Amino acid sequence: MATVDPILSCACGRACAGKPGSAVSRKHKFYFSCQSYGVHSRACEVYVWEDELEEYVQKRIRAAGVKLQELREDRDEFIEELSDRTREIKKLKRMNKVLQLALASTAPVAALIAVMAAWAGHH
Ligand SMILES: [Zn+2]
Repeated sequence: MATVDPILSCACGRACAGKPGSAVSRKHKFYFSCQSYGVHSRACEVYVWEDELEEYVQKRIRAAGVKLQELREDRDEFIEELSDRTREIKKLKRMNKVLQLALASTAPVAALIAVMAAWAGHH
């Protein structure tokens, strides 16, 4: 007798339902499908016969591997961009410090000019 194990995770995150085939020729075989298959109109596309399960799982693993590689590449690009931005921020902070110092050094001069202008205005 066929077994419904191992449990296959469906695209919706639930365990797939294991059911015997409906055709006479496939009555002895189980297939795995979404729990909503044949119940709700919105069901996942997952539909795997038990004898194709290993092949299906291997395909899924390969697809996940490709996806993982893409995500790693995206991550590396992101890290690179982030370090560029960090360098830019550091540069701007240094520049800001220099400008603050320059501004502070001109403050007494500006004050002196203002005092002199005020004094000249009284005479
Ligand atoms: Zn599902």
